[in-house]
Amino acid sequence: MNKPSIYGLTLDQMTAWLGERGHKKFRATQVWEWLYRKRVTAFSDMTDVHPECVELLADHYTILTLEEHTKQESLDGTVKFLFKLVDGNLIETVLMRHKFGLSVCVTTQVGCNIGCSFCASGLLKKSRDLSAAEIVEQVMQVQLHLDQRGKDERVSHLVVMGIGEPFDNYENMSDFIRVIKDHKGLAIGPRHITVSTSGLANKIVEFADSDLGVNLAISLHAPNDEIRTRIMKINKAIPIQKLMAAIDYYLEKTNRRITLEYILLKDVNDQREHALELAELVGDRRNLANVNLIPYNPVDEHSQYQRSSKESITAFYDTLKKQGISCSVRLEHGTDIDAACGQLRSKQIKKAQ
Ligand code: SF4
Repeated sequence: MNKPSIYGLTLDQMTAWLGERGHKKFRATQVWEWLYRKRVTAFSDMTDVHPECVELLADHYTILTLEEHTKQESLDGTVKFLFKLVDGNLIETVLMRHKFGLSVCVTTQVGCNIGCSFCASGLLKKSRDLSAAEIVEQVMQVQLHLDQRGKDERVSHLVVMGIGEPFDNYENMSDFIRVIKDHKGLAIGPRHITVSTSGLANKIVEFADSDLGVNLAISLHAPNDEIRTRIMKINKAIPIQKLMAAIDYYLEKTNRRITLEYILLKDVNDQREHALELAELVGDRRNLANVNLIPYNPVDEHSQYQRSSKESITAFYDTLKKQGISCSVRLEHGTDIDAACGQLRSKQIKKAQ
């Protein structure tokens, strides 16, 4: 049987696991430093860890499990990785370069059941959740890629926006965040981590009540139920009013800003009346909400959707601004490679078929 990757353990879990086997607390911290600060990829390289502890770890765990299947590098420095999991499934991870640092977008599930009709990832139904280890390892693989380049670059930001609905894999997503923000490890600041959900209302409430303390983004994508149900199947089960109630709970509880993601689809949701309706929907939440407008990256399988023109994007933005809504237009990355989320994966799978 394949051994799991040790990246799945939080520091507390590792401390408890080693403690139950007679090892002192400091051993876990030592191992943790080797994993996340010195970033060794073999237990035998942990030279100051007691040999018995090294043997114990190697007997039960491994470190790396993902195999690099494909890597696409864009002229703007974006790198798309397609990793093969131990069971042969493929997942996508993206490294993006921004002025403010280097961010990684991770995948949380193999496929996705949410069924957004514009999304390349959603074309392939969920076959399983990723383990916490498999999510952490995506970041570590990217960090190891940067280490190999020898330019002393660090992953500084994280977005949980890749394939899958992170709140549909809540426990593993939470452990992943605990590992990645631990100040003794990679120490990615909670303010630099954003989890994006399609709007699972009960999980938004749970997230608000949790100690995770990271940013939340909601894929809103429409100003009313009619359009949202048309483009996001999830809206049938969780209509906008229910979603807004969960958002209000989150805002009240955390007093933290949220991002409302809005993908602009030509003639579907990008007209002036939609912008006005959206502004009304945001309403009093405007002090704690930023609308992030996302120009659509067309995918072959969804030819019914086209990208909004530059003029429409600017007009939409201006209308929101005039209504006092804080908004931004997402900068695009990797336009010369398979830029849409899940596009590289679905192409490779099709090729294999
Ligand atoms: S946009 Fe996100 S939630 Fe929707 S189908 Fe794609 S991966 Fe799933």
